[in-house]
Amino acid sequence: MKQSELFTKTLREAPKDEESKNASLLIRGGFIYKVMAGAYAFLPLGLRVFRKLEEIIREEMTSIGAEEILMTSLQPKANWETTGRWLDFDALFKIKSQISEIDYALAPTHEEELTPIAKKHIVSYRDLPKAVFQIQNKFRDEKRAKAGLLRGREFFMKDLYSFHADAADLDRYYDKVSKTYMKIWKRVGLGKITYFTWASGGTFSKYSHEFQTLSESGEDTIYVCEKCRVAVNEEIIAEQRECPICGGREFSKKKSIEVGNIFKLGVKFSKPFELRYKDKSGREIEVQMGCYGIGLNRVMGTIADTSNDEKGLIWPEEVAPYKFHLLEFKKGSAAKIYKRMLEDGLEVLYDDRDVSPGEKLADADLIGIPYRLIVSEKTGKKIELKKRTDKKTTLVNYEYLRKI
Ligand code: ATP
Ligand code: MG
Repeated sequence: MKQSELFTKTLREAPKDEESKNASLLIRGGFIYKVMAGAYAFLPLGLRVFRKLEEIIREEMTSIGAEEILMTSLQPKANWETTGRWLDFDALFKIKSQISEIDYALAPTHEEELTPIAKKHIVSYRDLPKAVFQIQNKFRDEKRAKAGLLRGREFFMKDLYSFHADAADLDRYYDKVSKTYMKIWKRVGLGKITYFTWASGGTFSKYSHEFQTLSESGEDTIYVCEKCRVAVNEEIIAEQRECPICGGREFSKKKSIEVGNIFKLGVKFSKPFELRYKDKSGREIEVQMGCYGIGLNRVMGTIADTSNDEKGLIWPEEVAPYKFHLLEFKKGSAAKIYKRMLEDGLEVLYDDRDVSPGEKLADADLIGIPYRLIVSEKTGKKIELKKRTDKKTTLVNYEYLRKI
């Protein structure tokens, strides 16, 4: 992509109407636009990051046998009355048709829509287990939406749901999902700072689990067990004061962001919707369900929040908008290399703009692409290569770029 043709421009100054570090950096880099509090649009660079996150998550979900679906945002009130959550779900957006005066929910989560769908397809023990997921926009009427991409009133979530004949089969799948989530954090560059965290389970199971990423901007607090490196959240520490894994009592207290949450629902939804299957003897049994969420906006905000320096963003390679940022200081001097990189299938943003070298260098640091390349009179036939995370530069041949 030629930067002269990019839809967006960078901003030198932090936007005045944005309190959060993550959105402030992302707005300055031209990744997102703040539509209003809690609602951000993805611009070309931001959408590229989003799509990469999406693809990693999709790949990992597919690897554990989940099939992709896409449900609606508009949902009937009746489904929410069936579970009692029309009144109990605090953040539910409710809208009324101006024509028919019928009430609808704008979906904050999809158990109320999916359980009746599953009822059409899960009839016998032969139909189990099953798992489906979607990557879809959610709506939540959040009280405070001041944390940029970390807490939106509209945001994207990957939500996975699983259906099982019994609790043991649910347990087995739940463990598999939990391992897969740890893989996802690693792949998106959050592996070292994200903790498997014990949280309270609500009405149907003793525990649920959260995935918490260490960050000073986080709204959550976790207690990391010094012995086994898993964490517990505030509710759990208040209740039992010891690590559920090793019984340890030494914890370090940290601020964190909840990037994912997994839950054993048991029969919480299959009961009100009468989702049952027939076992071998023809007996009708309620289906056991699990649900597993990851907030994509929140993950992107968390990466921006935890991976930056005073100059701007530092994208982990797997989710960077482009792998290379090619800068030229004389009009057209990098055009040949750009063309060759495109032919070789290398992902490159080419700064061909008519602006000063200083501006190009500052923008490259702000946008945070992993490898900066400079072609100038000084570099001759070689290319100057600098990693966004390094201070030093090296001179390389073109061939070297293909091996990175
Ligand atoms: P929180 O406690 O932070 O409000 P939650 O526990 O209500 O979140 P879940 O219902 O568990 O959220 O949703 C699954 C995932 O969706 C969360 O782990 C988080 O990554 C993401 N998420 C939830 N609410 C938001 C939001 N308002 N904006 C962005 N992402 C969100
Ligand atoms: Mg949660």
